[in-house]
Amino acid sequence: MTSVIAFVGLGHMGGPMAANLVKAGHRVTGYDLLPELLASAGRSGVRAAASAAEAAAGADVVITMLPAGRHVLALYQDEGLLAAAKPGTLFIDCSTIDVADARAAHEAARAAGHRALDAPVSGGVMGAEAATLTFMTGGDADDFTRAEPLLSAMGKKAVHCGAAGSGQAAKICNNMILGISMIAVSEAFVLGERLGLTHQALFDVASTASGQCWALTTNCPVPGPVPGSPANRDYAPGFAAPLMAKDLGLAANAARAGGVDAELGLSAARMYAAFAGGEGADRDFSGIVRAIRQRSARPTGQATTEPTDENGTPE
Ligand code: NAD
Repeated sequence: MTSVIAFVGLGHMGGPMAANLVKAGHRVTGYDLLPELLASAGRSGVRAAASAAEAAAGADVVITMLPAGRHVLALYQDEGLLAAAKPGTLFIDCSTIDVADARAAHEAARAAGHRALDAPVSGGVMGAEAATLTFMTGGDADDFTRAEPLLSAMGKKAVHCGAAGSGQAAKICNNMILGISMIAVSEAFVLGERLGLTHQALFDVASTASGQCWALTTNCPVPGPVPGSPANRDYAPGFAAPLMAKDLGLAANAARAGGVDAELGLSAARMYAAFAGGEGADRDFSGIVRAIRQRSARPTGQATTEPTDENGTPE
């Protein structure tokens, strides 16, 4: 069935997602603050609106793909998106935002007489272009069912994770696992180098042993063992370090707010914030191995600060 869709935020992700909705036969009206993005979406069949509110008027579904929670809340309320839509419109926010902001967005939409889902994605720009994204959604089951045909036009999988905010919760928990495991794999490679292990030898063992994980076997942070990983192209993203830093910042905020003792998650958030603010600004998140290697540099033969016995136990 053809839906009338308003799509606001036509950037790296939103542009190709809106284009895939057009390809699936939906009528899509789009808006972005940047006129050049509106023009390029137009070439994919997205009709241009003069404002977000104009796009929303008359739509059955409003999809947003924006940088952060403050943009979503400002657009919904101050910029009049909720007020412009007809009653019962389904608002699907695909941006990655704070869980508390996502819940506030649900509340605002409901108070204005609408339906809402949080539906952040994984899969990156390539997934957005190829319509192979994974959606993690939060909200009522009926609204998820209503959204499913649209989500399947933009992605390969959609999981209903629970009530309002659950999609964002699943996204930041998953990316906390990913950020921590990439640091673990990177520290192990640097330790292996120090101990005289080749990258290939460590990979051959860990990839088929209990150290096996996506960060090692798909996005391997050293060049060689996995030819397609970003390490083989000077860490061109891939999944850019600033996006990992953003997601870990959201996870760290949620952990603090919930009183969760997420020591590794908080450390990973600090490490990625420093990396993304420096040499990692335009690199894949796996490039953090270089920062760890640089910080590990010391004269050959110098003892570690804490002597250990042959079992690694401090003496
Ligand atoms: P982007 O900066 O390319 O796109 C965001 C767009 O929103 C911009 O074009 C901006 O002009 C527009 N915008 C901001 N405020 C607006 C407003 N009030 N009205 C209309 N347009 C407005 O960002 P992106 O890479 O497309 O990411 C979008 C979201 O998706 C983010 O929340 C990000 O964390 C998440 N995400 C990104 C990736 C990725 O690989 N890029 C992967 C997964 C999730």
